[in-house]
Amino acid sequence: MNFPMDWKTIIEIAILWFLIYHIMLFFEGTRAIQVLRGIIIILVAFFVIQRMNLEVVDWIFTKLFAISVIAILVIFHPEIRQGLARLGQRHLFGTALREEEINLILSEIINATELLSREKIGALIAIEKNDSLNPYIESGVAIDAKVSSDLIQTIFTPKSLLHDGALIIQHGRAIAAGCLFPLSESQDINRMFGTRHRAALGLSEETDAVIIIVSEERQDMSLVYQGKLHKDLSRETILSKIKELLKYKNE
Ligand code: ATP
Ligand code: MG
Repeated sequence: MNFPMDWKTIIEIAILWFLIYHIMLFFEGTRAIQVLRGIIIILVAFFVIQRMNLEVVDWIFTKLFAISVIAILVIFHPEIRQGLARLGQRHLFGTALREEEINLILSEIINATELLSREKIGALIAIEKNDSLNPYIESGVAIDAKVSSDLIQTIFTPKSLLHDGALIIQHGRAIAAGCLFPLSESQDINRMFGTRHRAALGLSEETDAVIIIVSEERQDMSLVYQGKLHKDLSRETILSKIKELLKYKNE
């Protein structure tokens, strides 16, 4: 009997499916995913043009392709780096730690931020989720310490050398302080928010990190995730929202 698809075709389809799926996963949650969609549309257009034998357009497209591969590598080098880093990272906050440990760490963080807001001291704390925060960790000072309320308050005390910038929590450890985040360029941000809030939004636009802000001006606590800022939240709201967000970590 002659099957229309032999086993070779099936293996080829499986390999292609695997590759495309993992390329999409690579870029998920980054700006690159939109570009990836654009590329797929261009590829389809390219295929149609070739079928129609439009020689000039075909020639231009072929030349453009060679250039765009280099352009993509240059423009998306942070995303490519992040995707590769993610491949090697399997011990993440949500899985390597037990639930009680996570609860303990979160309550230390929230105890600190509550006390800081009472003292009118600003703070910025980012918790890594699936996307690696390594590029931002590199911008600060490594500490790699156990998370405690005392430590966090000490870091953000204005005279501390590390109070400027953000604290990053990775794999349940206070990994680095004084870290710099990209400032969001969004036009929709209320003018009452300054650079601390813009930095939190900027990080949230680039990664799936969960970010807590203590405002020194308004003395409130905000949570930033998925590119959105939620201000003036209570301890309980923050705790339950972070737990919910970290639950949907990969593996
Ligand atoms: P607040 O409500 O606390 O006043 P804000 O949004 O008005 O916050 P600023 O008053 O401008 O912001 O806060 C300045 C502080 O924000 C800096 O001292 C620094 O610690 C932090 N910050 C500013 N830019 C960045 C950045 N790019 N990355 C991380 N932290 C930053
Ligand atoms: Mg301010």
